[in-house]
Amino acid sequence: MTGAAPAVGDWRRALAAALRTPEALRAAAGLGAPAEAERAAAADFPVRVTATVLERIRRGDPADPVLAQFLPAAAELAPVPGFVDDPVGDLAARRGPGLLQKYRGRLLVMPTTACAVHCRYCFRRHYPHRDGARPEAVAARLRADPGLHEVILSGGDPLVLPDPPLRRLLAAVDGVATVRRIRIHTRVPVVLPARIGAPLVAMLSALRARCVVVLHVNHAAELGPDAAAALAALRGGGVVLLNQAVLLRGVNDSVPALAALSEALLDHGVLPYYLHQLDPVRGAAHFGVPDAEALALHRALRARLPGYLVPRLVREVPGDAAKRELAAAVEAADASRL
Ligand SMILES: *Cc1c(COP(=O)(O)O)cnc(C)c1O
Ligand code: SF4
Repeated sequence: MTGAAPAVGDWRRALAAALRTPEALRAAAGLGAPAEAERAAAADFPVRVTATVLERIRRGDPADPVLAQFLPAAAELAPVPGFVDDPVGDLAARRGPGLLQKYRGRLLVMPTTACAVHCRYCFRRHYPHRDGARPEAVAARLRADPGLHEVILSGGDPLVLPDPPLRRLLAAVDGVATVRRIRIHTRVPVVLPARIGAPLVAMLSALRARCVVVLHVNHAAELGPDAAAALAALRGGGVVLLNQAVLLRGVNDSVPALAALSEALLDHGVLPYYLHQLDPVRGAAHFGVPDAEALALHRALRARLPGYLVPRLVREVPGDAAKRELAAAVEAADASRL
C-alpha cells in the first residue's frame, strides 16, 4: 500500500502466502522449533499469519504481544471448566446458512468462515464450518423484517471474500431500503492491507447505506505503515472507523498498553468502541483477565484518557439482546449469589 497502488490480485497472493504451521511461524519469529504440545494445539486450530503481521513482531521474543495472539501454546490443550466450544450461543441464534439473529434491529451475516489470520483466543475457533450466507436469503430476511436497520457482516472475515461475491452481497443488502447501516467486522485492513485497494474502497463508498468498519486491533504495535495507508483509504472513502479489542493476558493487560492502543487508533482516525472480556472458548483460558482486574484497568484508563478514547468494557452474555457493560454484569452476578 505504500508507494504505488497494489495490482489487483496482489492481496490474494499475500493471503495465499500466509504462514500455516507453527514451525514456519516460530522460524519467522526467530524462535526454535515448536514443542509437541504446540503442534497439537495447531492441529486443533491451524496457524495462519500474514507477512504484514510478521513485520510487526519483535524477532526472538516469545512474549511479543503481537506474536502471542497467533502462536499456538501448550496451554490451549488444558481443559478448563466453563471454557466451551460455543461460548456465546451462536448455534442457538442460527437462522439459516451464515445468518444469526442475536441483537435487536441488527442482522448478523457470516458470508464466509475464512479469515486472513487465526487468533488463538477467537470465540469462533470451534465454529462448525458451514456454507456462508447467500445474498438472496439475506435480502429475503431483511424484507421480511423492516425493523432490521443494520446488517453486520462478520465471520470469518468478510473482506477475504473476492470482490464479485462481496459486491453481490452488498448490493443485495443495500437494495433493501429499510437498511440504514452496513457494518463490517474485519481484521483485514491491519493484517492484509493490500486488500484495501481502490476497487474495494469504491465499492464501499458507493453504498447508499452508511458504511461502518469495525476493526479488531489489540495492540498499538499492530498498526504499521501499510495498515495506516489502508485506514487512510477507507477514511477517504467516507467509511466510519471503529475498533474492538479483546482484553488479553500478555497482550494488552496494562494501562500503558491500552492507552497506547487508543491513542494510536485515533492517530489513524479510528475510535475505540469496545474492549471485550474474553469469551470463554475452549483453548483460550490462559488469555483471561479476571473481572476485578479488568474493571480496575478500565477505571485507570478513564482517569488517564479523554472519554472518547476509552472503549466500553463489555461482556457477551449468551441469549442477551445486547452486550453487557462489565460493571453491570459483575453486579448482577454478585446479586444472584446473595
Ligand atoms: C457484540 C457483537 C455484535 C453486536 O455488536 P453491537 O456493537 O453491540 O451492536 C455483532 N457481532 C459480534 C460478533 C458481536 O460480538
Ligand atoms: S474471526 Fe476475527 S478473532 Fe476470529 S480468527 Fe478470524 S480474525 Fe481472528
